[in-house]
Amino acid sequence: MDNTTYWIWWVLGIIHILPLFIGSNHLIHSITPQSPIQCNQTICTLQNSYGTWNDRKNCYALNVTYPTTEEQLRLAVSYVVQNNLTAKIVTKFSHTIPKLSCPQQNNNHAYFISTEKYDTEIQIDATNLTVTVDSGVKLRQLIDEVEKNGFSLVAAPYWEGVTIGGVISTGSHGSSWWGKGGAFHDHVFGISIIVPGSKSEGYAKVLRLESHDPLFNAAKVSLGVLGAISKVKLSLEHRFKRSIAFNFTDDNDIENVYIEHAKKYEFADITWYPSRHTAVYRYDVRVPLDAAGDGVYDFIGFQANEILVSQSVRAAEKLLENTGNTEGKCLTASATLGYKKLTANGLKNNGLIFTGYPVIGYQGKMQTSGSCLYSTRIDTSCAWDPRIKGLSFYESTAIFPASKFGDFINDVKKLRDINPQNFCGIDNYNGILIRYIKASEAYLGQSEDSVVIDFNYYRANDQFTPRLNQDVWEELEQIAFFKYGAKPHWAKNRNLAISNVQHKYPKFNLFIEAKNQMDTQNVFSGDWSDEILYGKELVKFDGCALEGQCICSEDRHCSPQKGYYCSHGLVYKEARVCRSSSTFVYPDSL
Ligand SMILES: Cc1cc2nc3c(=O)[nH]c(=O)nc-3n(C[C@H](O)[C@H](O)[C@H](O)COP(=O)(O)OP(=O)(O)OC[C@H]3O[C@@H](n4cnc5c(N)ncnc54)[C@H](O)[C@@H]3O)c2cc1C
Repeated sequence: MDNTTYWIWWVLGIIHILPLFIGSNHLIHSITPQSPIQCNQTICTLQNSYGTWNDRKNCYALNVTYPTTEEQLRLAVSYVVQNNLTAKIVTKFSHTIPKLSCPQQNNNHAYFISTEKYDTEIQIDATNLTVTVDSGVKLRQLIDEVEKNGFSLVAAPYWEGVTIGGVISTGSHGSSWWGKGGAFHDHVFGISIIVPGSKSEGYAKVLRLESHDPLFNAAKVSLGVLGAISKVKLSLEHRFKRSIAFNFTDDNDIENVYIEHAKKYEFADITWYPSRHTAVYRYDVRVPLDAAGDGVYDFIGFQANEILVSQSVRAAEKLLENTGNTEGKCLTASATLGYKKLTANGLKNNGLIFTGYPVIGYQGKMQTSGSCLYSTRIDTSCAWDPRIKGLSFYESTAIFPASKFGDFINDVKKLRDINPQNFCGIDNYNGILIRYIKASEAYLGQSEDSVVIDFNYYRANDQFTPRLNQDVWEELEQIAFFKYGAKPHWAKNRNLAISNVQHKYPKFNLFIEAKNQMDTQNVFSGDWSDEILYGKELVKFDGCALEGQCICSEDRHCSPQKGYYCSHGLVYKEARVCRSSSTFVYPDSL
């Protein structure tokens, strides 16, 4: 590399990690997230939090209503049923990536029912250690309320920009194999759900489901297709503290130690940066309430960034993509990882800065974060806020039976070892996050102890622009979903991940039976949720494999005009991926 090139990539590297510095060293405030629903005189449009659905098409409904009580929610469902309309429940956040909240688009008869203003009741039952909440209550609101009263929620997603209704509908989770495990829905004791009713029932009725009810295990993870959830009753524990330390080390042993790691630490996870040959083990345990420390985990990726910085990072990433510069990506991946190590990824001993391990703090401040959501400074935001044209990325999430996960890691290592630099594109984000979920009774939960991976990677501004090393991400997905039969997270992923999903859940039929019983008129059905429930051949068109809308079988499904051809996998030969003829060099061994 000559001197000028070196400095260009150095500057790009610094731009890339700037938000991390800024986010952690200053008290930064952001623009409040906008409502996901925008209406004009004739139509309402729903966006997800990234502003772009998987198919890049809009999602419409005729109108939206904002109930504030359970009875108003029931009346909203009643109106929809009485008038032969369809409906989807939408939330204040709309943080699900695929179109799960989108009603059927072809009949012009759909309504949105929003829980944005249905968020006032949080009733704590201190004797029975439960809390009952309106479904529109925000996760942070709930955490703060229970902590204030001396209790904690044990499991929750890492991201707090979600509502309780949204979290349980999608099987969202944190990480744990202890107790009832890391999935939020496994800590649910009761669900009130409003389903269509007969005329004499006022066209809508409230079902109050508890664990003895046969419909309860369907309602625990309902994908929003069974009815409108009005109340959720959750288990509580007495308030506790946690002690967290991150061990940044080599990745030699992940496949041998991942089970022990989860058994040893209640809130264990592992973040794997394959291109850097680095694994970060999270040593995370409960400590007594009187242990010294008032720390927070303000995860770096969820801190507010200056808008200009987010835009510069996006511009830098686009430049690296468009010039096919893997080396530049690796430079930024390296700088990012170095900075994460320095700042403990957002752990702060005193709420402001990181001074050393372990960081001890209350459960309510250690499990879940999202500080980018709450502040008010107009020149900052969450990095992916669609209004600022900042980061745009995909997230693939695959859930494995624990016993198969070691083999998956070995396959990924083989793929990585062909050319480790090809993995820098995910290490620029958060590498591969490895978390744990325990076996669940929920029909659409995990039937056995499982391991979940998430990885994020660049998404272009238009659907026909291929991505650097996209063959690697595609092979990774296909190894997970097809070779090892991993299941998708219901709230994430690109279309190919739901192929054949009906056959991956042993109790899928019971869920369909429950749907037929509860939503007799398919009021809560939608195009995407129907694809999940009943399956659909992936439709093939020119360029369809570039964004995971299909798996390529011909070159035209990739982008031959831009030098991307349909090719076989390198480790998993059965995989079919779009590979660049110009950036890929076949190793001698292949
Ligand atoms: C930055 C980010 C980080 C994330 N981190 C995690 C994580 O750590 N762990 C994890 O598991 N997931 C994570 N997710 C995914 C997230 O937890 C889910 O997408 C969650 O469902 C979002 O909640 P929401 O309130 O925005 O729901 P929405 O996206 O608005 O809705 C999700 C589904 O629930 C249905 N629904 C919502 N409320 C009701 C109701 N009252 N009655 C019936 N149906 C209802 C909707 O119709 C829709 O089908 C993350 C997502 C993002 C964007």
